Amino acid sequence: MIARRAILLEAMIKDNIARIKERISRVCSRVNRDPDSITIVAVSKARTAEQIEEVIKAGITDIGENKVQEALSKYKQLSAVPAAGGSAFGGSCQLSAARWHMVGHLQTNKVKDAVKIFNLIHSVDSLHLAFEIDKQAAKINNIQNILIEVNTSGEAAKFGIKPEELPGLVKSVSGLKNIRVLGLMTIAPIVDNPQISRPYFRMLRELRDTSYELRVLSMGMSDDFEIAIEEGSNVVRLGRAIFELS
Ligand SMILES: *Cc1c(COP(=O)(O)O)cnc(C)c1O
Repeated sequence: MIARRAILLEAMIKDNIARIKERISRVCSRVNRDPDSITIVAVSKARTAEQIEEVIKAGITDIGENKVQEALSKYKQLSAVPAAGGSAFGGSCQLSAARWHMVGHLQTNKVKDAVKIFNLIHSVDSLHLAFEIDKQAAKINNIQNILIEVNTSGEAAKFGIKPEELPGLVKSVSGLKNIRVLGLMTIAPIVDNPQISRPYFRMLRELRDTSYELRVLSMGMSDDFEIAIEEGSNVVRLGRAIFELS
């Protein structure tokens, strides 16, 4: 039974990823972009380490979580997968090559753990948080890659800085030695028609273009990633499209 369940899981995830890649290729050819310039982050909150392993085996090695504790526990489980043993993906090579992304809101008291496992923190939204990341990264001799989260839609319930706060924050953070700002992130409003999100994605791209040091645009989720790519996204964060039966 267990083997059968694992095979079904593997097939579903492979199938979903193939379909997503096809959709990305189609949008890219429409807007004349290179599909290889788009990174897929598999957002695995509330999914198991077993599910994440299937995603990595299927070739997606960027894993996104939105809670530090949950990420830490799965990180440890996956690191414990034996190195050799002739698994279908050649030991743990790909597992250890996985890059972990913090996509959820980060509290300052979790930063100490966060800097140990995350290659990229997408959700920096205050100088206070940036200072703490810089401090904790310095302690472990690390330069932490971050994105600044912008609340492009202005919704009160959303995290992220106001667009007009961006230049000031970028300037202040650029003085911190143990942080590297790679770009921007936004979460579009949850709406029935993804076209409604287009102006928010466009706004993030225009903000990115104001600063030469910003490169990454983390925008687009399962319901709106094609629109986000049309507007310049180069990192899409996908949860349901990867892990759920479509
Ligand atoms: C959950 C989550 C996602 C993925 O959402 P889906 O709609 O399942 O693709 C992306 N980004 C963030 C910040 C999330 O919390």
